[in-house]
Amino acid sequence: MAIDEKHYRARITKRADFAPDLWMIRIDPGAEFAFAPGQYATLGVEKDARRLERPYSIVSSPYEREIEFFFELVPHGQTTPPLYDLQPGDEVLMRKVPKGRFTLDTSQPARKNHLMLSTVTGVAPFVSYVRTLFADWKKGKFAGDHNLFLLNGASRPWEFGYREELERFSQQAPWFTYVPTVSRPWEDASWKGEVGRVDDLIRKYADHWGCTAATSIAYLCGHPEMIEHGKGILKRLGFEKENFKEEVYWVPAKAAGA
Ligand SMILES: Cc1cc2nc3c(=O)[nH]c(=O)nc-3n(C[C@H](O)[C@H](O)[C@H](O)COP(=O)(O)OP(=O)(O)OC[C@H]3O[C@@H](n4cnc5c(N)ncnc54)[C@H](O)[C@@H]3O)c2cc1C
Repeated sequence: MAIDEKHYRARITKRADFAPDLWMIRIDPGAEFAFAPGQYATLGVEKDARRLERPYSIVSSPYEREIEFFFELVPHGQTTPPLYDLQPGDEVLMRKVPKGRFTLDTSQPARKNHLMLSTVTGVAPFVSYVRTLFADWKKGKFAGDHNLFLLNGASRPWEFGYREELERFSQQAPWFTYVPTVSRPWEDASWKGEVGRVDDLIRKYADHWGCTAATSIAYLCGHPEMIEHGKGILKRLGFEKENFKEEVYWVPAKAAGA
């Protein structure tokens, strides 16, 4: 149901909790919400007679009727604690217009390798890319002539949220490679995958996958420090402005002057 010219009051249809501070929701906007994979929506909650709004990357594909989000609870934050309280059946405000330019760039003929780097919830736009391309590939609308390489970091294995889905895509689609990496492997002895922080692994995987500056575009999403370090590492590999896209999720408290 629309509440004003700028917002929808969207209904939460599903919620899944991955960890005590990580969860996803699906919402029914109740009306048209056209977006491109990689864009974000502005969600709002009303608390103490105030409206709080924040941007959230869209996980779902435009082919899905519902819109999906992946959240991290920031305990001292203003918006995520009231967002965390919302359950299926509750409503959330959503601006009618999606935003952002963190979309897959297929416009550079020489650059068909897409090196996607994310921390925790920063995987959201990449899930949207892959869901969409997978559907296009199945319909014969995408020839598989772009290679997507995703390096996805989390502290612990249960924080990935979308690992199983992404592993399924990577098993089926020759154009998609997925590596989840855990930076605190000692907290789960059963973890047999890659270990280390994303920024510490960029060089290894860029080399391994043949992602050079001449052939690739890098997409960095999530933690501001991973993005800063990641850009430094990629610049040393010759990546320049036209090789980068970034979506910085927050400004570190120090830099923000807090
Ligand atoms: C384009 C864009 C897309 C985004 N997409 C997502 C998304 O898909 N999922 C998601 O969970 N968040 C996403 N964010 C972050 C989100 O917009 C909020 O900043 C975040 O949810 C915190 O909101 P808050 O009101 O609870 O905290 P605030 O009250 O705004 O922040 C309080 C303090 O916490 C710091 N902070 C904010 N977020 C974090 C964090 N995750 N970890 C540590 N410190 C933090 C801030 O710098 C600030 O100092 C995105 C941000 C941008 C700019």
